[in-house]
Amino acid sequence: MSEKFVGTPRKVTAHMTQNEGLSFEKSSPGKKGYKLAPLDVPEVDVKALLGENAREDVGTLPELSEIEIIRHFTRLSTWNYAIDLGMYPLGSCTMKYNPRVNEFVSRLEGIAEAHPYQPESLSQGSLEIVKLLQDCLIEICGMDAITLQPAAGAHGEFTGILLARAYHQSKGNPRKHVIIPDSAHGTNPATAAVCGYQVVNLKSNAQGGVDVNALAQMVNEDTAALMLTNPSTIGVFENEIHKIADILHEKGALLYMDGANMNALVGKTRPGDFGVDVMHLNLHKTFSTPHGGGGPGSGPVACKKILEPFLPTPVVATGADGLLHWNYDRPESVGRVRMLYGNFGMFVRALAYILANGPDGLRQTTEDAVLNANYIRAKLQDLYELPYDTPSMHEVVFSDKRQTKNGVKTGDIAKRLIDYGFHPYTVSFPLIVPGALMIEPTESESREELDLFIDAMRQVAREAEENPELVTKAPHSTRISRLDETTAARKPILRWKAPPASTPVEVDTAAKEW
Ligand SMILES: *Cc1c(COP(=O)(O)O)cnc(C)c1O
Repeated sequence: MSEKFVGTPRKVTAHMTQNEGLSFEKSSPGKKGYKLAPLDVPEVDVKALLGENAREDVGTLPELSEIEIIRHFTRLSTWNYAIDLGMYPLGSCTMKYNPRVNEFVSRLEGIAEAHPYQPESLSQGSLEIVKLLQDCLIEICGMDAITLQPAAGAHGEFTGILLARAYHQSKGNPRKHVIIPDSAHGTNPATAAVCGYQVVNLKSNAQGGVDVNALAQMVNEDTAALMLTNPSTIGVFENEIHKIADILHEKGALLYMDGANMNALVGKTRPGDFGVDVMHLNLHKTFSTPHGGGGPGSGPVACKKILEPFLPTPVVATGADGLLHWNYDRPESVGRVRMLYGNFGMFVRALAYILANGPDGLRQTTEDAVLNANYIRAKLQDLYELPYDTPSMHEVVFSDKRQTKNGVKTGDIAKRLIDYGFHPYTVSFPLIVPGALMIEPTESESREELDLFIDAMRQVAREAEENPELVTKAPHSTRISRLDETTAARKPILRWKAPPASTPVEVDTAAKEW
């Protein structure tokens, strides 16, 4: 099987084939993708109507027939990888299946076409969805109150730390710093800094957890909060979480939990019960709403009673008339963090997921996610280095220590996985594990798919020993192979510009044409 992929990356030219090549430029003058009936009303003089705001030229738009447009976009979609095509083991991202029942419900006419400015009396159904989802999430987290406004996890962190700040401010002093373990997601320190706090770095202990003694030395009256991911980004549960909460609370500091890893906890344990004061969830991770491609996310923030007065405005409340209303009368609120009410379509999908599974189904989901990660761990630990042997929760972190002897790094193994038909795992994160391979299968995958993935990983480990170049030059099966990642990140070319009509477009490995 591996031999099939030996060779140099392909070069593809625009002239290679009309249908398969990278021929983005298909426009030719006069083509139309629509046909209108003859005008049977008086023509409007746009200039008279709009004055100087009337646009004279409409810019250069591609001119194409309908089928050319359909083929262009359908073809592009087949060059991508999706959860609907196969396993997507990106650790920390919880790339789980988006159940079709969610999509069905979110497309129901009364829901999909509800307008945010519809009067409340005509929006009771939508408001009930918001209220019911809030109640479910509050129950799942063991918290007292929630806002659904934030549009992503990082936005939830921002909102949560704003709440912490407002709380401390209400006691007369916003405090100075936020403590963050070295295993944290990069968004945590960024959040603390954006909210005006100094970031204090906390080293992990030998098991990859919080060093409780080091924490006790660090916490003082200037500590606003500890931002903790539990289970941590190496997939390990903080078994001294109560002690951690007590240390903070003794000095009046708060425990913030980055809840992006809730897929390991839902239905088993509740952050509110183990001392967390404020946390965010990622509906687009744990609660199966679509994820990635810059699409709409949702990062609700749940909190304890002490933080409720500061939640973003408006909040849903039942009025004296028994109807649901948006309450804007919140003098201590941190204000709005997003226009309108949040990404409503995501609320519908998450609620559909929660109701379709029910409490037992959600618990089963968690157990299956943890089982799958541990299955992969058990089947790969003879070939890949396990930096921490603390029991894994929903994800497992290996390192490339054994493969680097042959010059093969985690990024190479990840790219080689593409040739085997899998999306790469998370590369080089968390940072406390040099050369990390972070794998999160989620509960969506069957035993058969997990076995295929395990086989691929075992093959790649063998290739790294026997033919390292095959791995370091991967992928061999994609349209383009290795990009200049630094240039692609620093100087992304986000707009396709048509070359002069007669020049063939040659695209090889660089980001230059993209
Ligand atoms: C994904 C993730 C975030 C950020 O969530 P976004 O929705 O991508 O902003 C924060 N922390 C952890 C641990 C995550 O995995």
